[in-house]
Amino acid sequence: MEPGGELRVTRQRRVLLDELCKVTSHPTADDLYQMVRQKLPRISLGTVYRNLELMAEQGMIQKLEIGGTQKRFDGNADLHYHVRCLNCGRVDDLDLPPDCRVEQEAAQRTSFKILRHRLEFSGLCPDCQNMDS
Ligand SMILES: [Zn+2]
Ligand SMILES: [Zn+2]
Repeated sequence: MEPGGELRVTRQRRVLLDELCKVTSHPTADDLYQMVRQKLPRISLGTVYRNLELMAEQGMIQKLEIGGTQKRFDGNADLHYHVRCLNCGRVDDLDLPPDCRVEQEAAQRTSFKILRHRLEFSGLCPDCQNMDS
């Protein structure tokens, strides 16, 4: 690694994390690349992607396994639900407390120790609903 390389990686992650935590739009790696380019003019899309994957593995951020063509990332690593627009792909947070009972129920009905669950909501966002009228 070149001198100062480690410091650069740390700074890249910090900037990425800062930008990701500022928004609730659940950006893709592409979106984040555009967002950090001002602050990190020399960063590549591949580096952004690698850093995001790593931070997700470490539990600092969340990688959303939600329908759609591109993976999206979330600065909020706590369990929360999302709602996705089937028309424009927008993903919003859903202000609904995660349901722990479903995990207990699932554990009771199987021999599994349940560690997590995922619930996906989808529909039409307000903007896309208005396009009809
Ligand atoms: Zn929409
Ligand atoms: Zn979220």
